[in-house]
Amino acid sequence: MPETQPTRKRGNFIRTIIERDIAQGKNNGQVVTRFPPEPNGYLHIGHAKSICLNFGFAADYNGRCHLRFDDTNPIKEDVEFIEAIKEDVRWLGFDWGKYEYHASDYFERLYQYAEELIMKGKAYVCELGPDEIREYRGTPTQPGRESPYRNRPIRESLDLFRRMRAGEFAEGTRVLRAKIDMASPNLNMRDPVVYRIRKQPHPRTGDKWCIYPMYDFAHCLSDAIEGVTHSLCTLEFEDHRPLYDWFLDQLDVPSHPQQIEFARLNISYTVLSKRMLRQLIDEGVVTGWGDPRMPTIKGLRKRGYTPESIRQFSEDVGLAKANSIVDMAMLENAIRDDLDPKVPRLMCVHKPLKVVIDNYEESRVEYMKAPYYPNDPEKMGYRQTPFTREIFIEQDDFMEDPPKKFFRLAPGREVRLRFSYIIKCVDVVKDPRTGEVIELHCTYDPDSLGKKPVGRKVKGTIHWVSANQGVPAILKLYDRLFTVPNPAGEGGNFMDYLNPSSLEVVRNAVIEPAIKDVGKPGARFQFERKGFYFLDPEDSTPDMFVFNRIVSLKSKWERIRGGAGTAHTK
Ligand code: ATP
Ligand code: MG
Repeated sequence: MPETQPTRKRGNFIRTIIERDIAQGKNNGQVVTRFPPEPNGYLHIGHAKSICLNFGFAADYNGRCHLRFDDTNPIKEDVEFIEAIKEDVRWLGFDWGKYEYHASDYFERLYQYAEELIMKGKAYVCELGPDEIREYRGTPTQPGRESPYRNRPIRESLDLFRRMRAGEFAEGTRVLRAKIDMASPNLNMRDPVVYRIRKQPHPRTGDKWCIYPMYDFAHCLSDAIEGVTHSLCTLEFEDHRPLYDWFLDQLDVPSHPQQIEFARLNISYTVLSKRMLRQLIDEGVVTGWGDPRMPTIKGLRKRGYTPESIRQFSEDVGLAKANSIVDMAMLENAIRDDLDPKVPRLMCVHKPLKVVIDNYEESRVEYMKAPYYPNDPEKMGYRQTPFTREIFIEQDDFMEDPPKKFFRLAPGREVRLRFSYIIKCVDVVKDPRTGEVIELHCTYDPDSLGKKPVGRKVKGTIHWVSANQGVPAILKLYDRLFTVPNPAGEGGNFMDYLNPSSLEVVRNAVIEPAIKDVGKPGARFQFERKGFYFLDPEDSTPDMFVFNRIVSLKSKWERIRGGAGTAHTK
């Protein structure tokens, strides 16, 4: 089992409201929240934020959090998504216990509430077509016009509504509308549609219904039926709150939950909208919802992210009342911070360049003692990494004609091999046709093991792996999906800003042989000087280790932009 650390929590405006309610004895001091996904896609990290909030508050105040599938739209939904959503919520570390609900389970009760509304003179069946309804609604600056059916007798609406349910009418010919105020400055209050005809079977209720409730009606009532106390939702529902309260005020409901809005999470260099994510899949940019580049929970899991890092990130981005974009670097820092103290380090050469150490005997092997946790050697002890006459170093740790500040290997220069000797480059072998450097010859200083060199400075230390004892590996180097911070907001099509190198597959990487002892499928490592990697349990085979790069040690994006990640939440 991985170590799990409790999330470090902060204060925020919702916590303040909840604590005040508890102090005042509102809802008998109870806290009941819910996470209400629409099962029309996989969850993304924005949903994770909502999950962490809702389940987090419930846990913090001894309450409960319901998992409610908001499955009122029969057209877009699929059971595949229901199972995937449950898996993701569980993986994030939350448990809804017996509190799994489906809005579709309430269809009969919702229908009864709709009849109650009609009987109270608060709803009517309207026979305007969809275009007419839109036209009658008016605009933000112009009041709407009343439907000619608005004042029809209650009896008549009730009869028509029952016949709508019975399937007597075609789609689009009739709707049930709330009777509120066509002159309201809030368009949501201009006699909104409550029920519409959809002759579509529903994944859970089959052919039982041919009328379906609208979100605004179903959501507040589902909350009230379940005894939710704090109904947290994203900012775009702020203008819907008067309607949420209106329905609950008209009807004889068991409770009146409080809707509280917060800003949705947006992250730079990606998109958090199911519609756009679906487009990436449909156009073959990624392999599916679980592609490791996707900001979906499934994708992040496949990439190697930990639930702890996502929970901590969700907490650290804070809660705002205005929409903003959080820097992707913050998410990347969250996984670095989580993994740095809890995964062992190894050396892995990504793009090998062979180095022959001329003054080291051919048959000799020395085992270099190297701690798995250099900052805390006792934690897991040491591995013995073999040092041999031929080793691999990174191609880019050598430059034939280096600039002044290059502290790695170059002709005539010295470098320290991590946990081993100092070597000096004495010769460079090139491919006679291409001029490419294919091999280096070096000498080692036998006196340099574990000691500072005498009379000279060696500034650089590089990682390396024995050429004949190293273990081959495939590395999938993942990077951001887009090249601009706000692909959806640049104007134009977000697909124009795809990062062409969001995946680079390295097929001839070499890892020190200790990987055979510690390389359990699903294990995570820090490869020295490179980054954090996940030994992919699905893609690896008995004879090939396949690693996903979760995140590099330092992002080239940060170097370009010259700054660590901060949340722009002001
Ligand atoms: P999308 O726009 O990606 O399709 P959605 O809001 O339609 O998302 P739902 O399944 O309806 O997705 O959302 C379930 C819950 O998750 C809702 O309470 C919603 O407010 C919340 N949620 C969705 N996206 C975000 C986000 N980016 N940040 C915070 N909460 C979110
Ligand atoms: Mg939605």
